[in-house]
Parts: sequence; C-alpha cells; structure tokens
Amino acid sequence: MTILNGAPAASATQLPHGTPLELFINGQWRQATGGATLPDYNPATEELLAEIAAATADDVDTAVKAARAQLQGEWGALSGGARGQILNRVADLIERDGETLATLEALDIGKPVGQPMMLDIPNAAATFRHFAGWADKITGSSIPTAGYMGRPTHSYTVREPVGVIGAIVPWNTPLMIAAWKLAPALAAGNTLVVKPAEDAPLSILWLGALLAEAGLPPGVVNIVPGAGLVAGNALVEHRDVDKISFTGSPAVGRSIQQKAAETFKRVTLELGGKSPQIILPDADVEAAVNGTAMGLFFNQGEVCAAGTRIFVHRSRYDEVVGALSAAASAQVLGDPFDPATTLGALVNAKQRDSVLGYIERGKAEGARVASGGGRPDRPGYFVEPTIFADATNDMTIAQEEIFGPVGTVIVYDDPAEAIRQANDTKYGLAASIWTQDVTLAHTLARQIRAGAVWVNGWAAIDPALPWGGMKTSGVGRELGWSGILANTEEKVITVVL
Ligand code: NAD
Repeated sequence: MTILNGAPAASATQLPHGTPLELFINGQWRQATGGATLPDYNPATEELLAEIAAATADDVDTAVKAARAQLQGEWGALSGGARGQILNRVADLIERDGETLATLEALDIGKPVGQPMMLDIPNAAATFRHFAGWADKITGSSIPTAGYMGRPTHSYTVREPVGVIGAIVPWNTPLMIAAWKLAPALAAGNTLVVKPAEDAPLSILWLGALLAEAGLPPGVVNIVPGAGLVAGNALVEHRDVDKISFTGSPAVGRSIQQKAAETFKRVTLELGGKSPQIILPDADVEAAVNGTAMGLFFNQGEVCAAGTRIFVHRSRYDEVVGALSAAASAQVLGDPFDPATTLGALVNAKQRDSVLGYIERGKAEGARVASGGGRPDRPGYFVEPTIFADATNDMTIAQEEIFGPVGTVIVYDDPAEAIRQANDTKYGLAASIWTQDVTLAHTLARQIRAGAVWVNGWAAIDPALPWGGMKTSGVGRELGWSGILANTEEKVITVVL
C-alpha cells in the first residue's frame, strides 16, 4: 500500500513574487497580440496558478525578426569568449535562484520540490557552464588538397551559427531541456525563439529574466509560450527560422519533420522511449532494484529515458519482483512541497487518465499487478506507483510509452534472449545493464540499439555527453561536442594561391 502524504498544500499555489507571465520578445515583456492567454494549473491541487500570455503567429513573427536582427547585431559581433562569459553568468544566476526555479517546477508539474533541486537546476547550470567553455573553442580545420588548375590552394573550414533556432520544449523537465537547447546554440552564436509547453512555462519565463540580467542582448533569446498548434506551428512553418530543435512526442516530432522539409530547416528531434533495464543473474540486486525503482518513479515516471521494461533472469525473478513491489509501496505520494514526498502528481488530468488506461490495458492483457494499479482518493492528478509482473514484451504496456509511474517486469533465461527482446521495440533512447561481469557488460552494451547505455546505473547524464535516440526516439544529438556540431554549419574557404 503506497503511503499517502498529507492534505493538498493550499499555500503552495502561491507563485513566487515577480514570476513573469508574459511573452519575452526583443528584451521586453509583453501581452500576446489580442490579449490571448492560456490557463496554467497546479497538478497537485488542480487549482489555477495563473493565466499565461499565449503567443499568436504574429507574435512569433516579431520574435523571429528580433532574433534574425541580432545575428548581424551586437550579438553577432561578440567574440566566443564574450559569449562564454555571458553563459557563465547565466549559470551563476540559475544557481542563485535555484530554490525559486525548483518551486516553479514543483508548482507547474507537480513533482516533489527536492527532485528539481537535485537534478534539473544543477544540471541546467552545469549545461550553461559546460557550453560557456566551448564558446571560444569552436574551431575548423585546415585541409590539404591537390590544388586548382595547376595552382596551389589553401583550404580551411569554419563553423558558423546555423542562424535562428526555434526551440520547442515539453513539460516534464522544462528548465533542463531548455538549457540543453539554449546553451549549445548560444555558445555557437545562434539566436533563438523558445516555445515552452502549455502546461509548464513558468521556469523558462523566469530563465528569460535571468538571461537579460546576465547581459544577453535583447532579441538573442525570445520566449513565446502558447499553444503547440499556434505558436509552435508558427515557428515550424516560419520561412526565416533555420532550425527546429524539438523535444516531445513522436507524433508531433513526425509532423515537425514533415513540415520542416518545406523550408529545408535543420531538425533535431528528441522523442520518447521505452527503455529496457536488463538485470543479469550476477547483478547486485539491491543496487539494481534501487536504480530500477528510480528509473520508474523519478519525476513520476514522466521521463523520456524511464527504464520501464525490466528484464530479469529467471534465477532472480521472484526476488526482484518482490523488492521492486516493496520499493513501489514505499513511495510517499502527496504534496510536492512536503520533504517526505517522493512521488508527486502527473501533469494534468489527460495524462493521469492515459496512464490509468494503460494500467487497465495491462490487466486486461493478462499481466499481474504486483503493486499499485489504481489512483488514490485525493485531489490532484495522482496515480499509484505500479509494478506489473508476469508480463511479456509484446503486451501494450511493454511496447508503448506510458509516461507515468508504471514498470513492466519480464522474465528471461538467456542474455541473448534479453537483448533480442530489449531491441524488439520501436524506441531506442536508453538502456541499463546490471551485472558484475565487465566483459559481458561491454559486450551487451554494444548489442543494444539505443543512444545511451548505462551499466550499473540509470540516467547517468552529463552535459559533456551526447544525448539523443535511435529509431522512433529521435534524430540527431544534443549536448557535448555533438551539441556544437548540431548548432553550426561547416563552411569551406579555398584561396587559390
Ligand atoms: P508534445 O509533443 O505534446 O509537446 C511538446 C511540445 O511541442 C510542447 O511545447 C507543445 O506545445 C509543442 N507542440 C505540440 N504540437 C505541436 C505542433 N503541431 N507544432 C509545433 N509544436 C507543437 O509532448 P509532451 O507531451 O509535452 O512531452 C512528452 C513527450 O516528450 C514524451 O513522448 C517524452 O518521451 C518526450 N520527451 C523526450 C525527451 C528526450 O530527450 N528524448 C525528453 C523529455 C520528453
């Protein structure tokens, strides 16, 4: 039985003083054209937090023009070192306002406030710092050639900014994902228009104020909250946007890639996942269960890399199912601002109902509920942490991304069978392998089709490491040097001597 923690926290619906609720265009906070707004709710209490300005296509156009102007303006003239100094100041300010940013994430998304304090905020700051370091090290190369019409040549490459980038962000970890898009793009000298998700724009709007305070010239980063079909689509269709950097669902990612083809926009897509966790017979089961439980329940399971398919060797199967069920039952579900809470609310009623629908589907298809399986009787969009046992990899709960606190445990007899099933999915974002056998770990890691494989851990992410998926999990990479490559165009210059 999952522990229910406290009553809904009425005081927690107060927004921090000064939280921006408007569009941020060309360094100014402004209403949307026509005064349109969208409501933003607290998922843990179902209460209205604020009405947020909702950008129109005209607003997006104004933002794109401001971003375009800065490529040839003050920003375009800055050295890489000067850009790096600004990015370092942004990192300082994120750290200074860490508690406020974590509060905004907890209010907007329903997650326990300690989780953004532990991950989202430090990771966002570290991402700005990492790319501050790259800003003055974006080099080309000198390339020997055979010459031109009998004359020698001097050929070299330079890396130039792609131009104006439209960054479209989901609601699950908004500040962190916005940082993953902003920091490499800014380090490389691009300008951006950022479209936060309808359900969670607050931390990104606060970040807008920090960017201005850090000395980023007006118009370099513009923020246009609003509806995906209006503001997001306007960015995707805009003829003067050079690239879309999108994180979100495969369905929207597919439509973005199709539309982007009209204007030959560059596209990076970070989409969903159905990541396997493979527990080998020699694994340290306590560590594996702790890591697996984190991979299921952190951020209420609303994580693209959530390790939701757990493949367990038959010799350890009962032990792991028992321990994972106990870990699920030990989750403390409730008020995101109570330090004891480990599992918050799902982001909205639609997401809760979708997760509950998958749970019913799992039961109907014959999987056994080992823990959870319902919703608690309290306000807020909560779902019990749920473990399905005796499942097979072809069940809906093993094939579709649930994006909630639900894990599916599947038995295997032979590691080769585990790998075959792990790869039997349309997704390919991440995977974990739990074993003490170094040789087996490296061998199996190479056999998994995923952008990241963690051995004896889950979500060991770092701004220095490329991030992205194979198959339906996405196109392209963010972060690390790959993030710089994704945000630059390579130009060849040849001088006939
Ligand atoms: P979503 O695709 O519904 O929305 C993502 C963003 O796209 C939002 O800002 C939304 O307003 C915008 N959008 C919606 N329709 C649009 C359109 N037609 N044109 C342009 N923009 C549009 O996804 P979501 O529900 O917010 O996020 C959950 C999904 O994101 C999950 O599938 C999850 O796995 C994925 N995700 C992936 C990663 C990753 O790094 N791979 C990280 C986090 C989330």
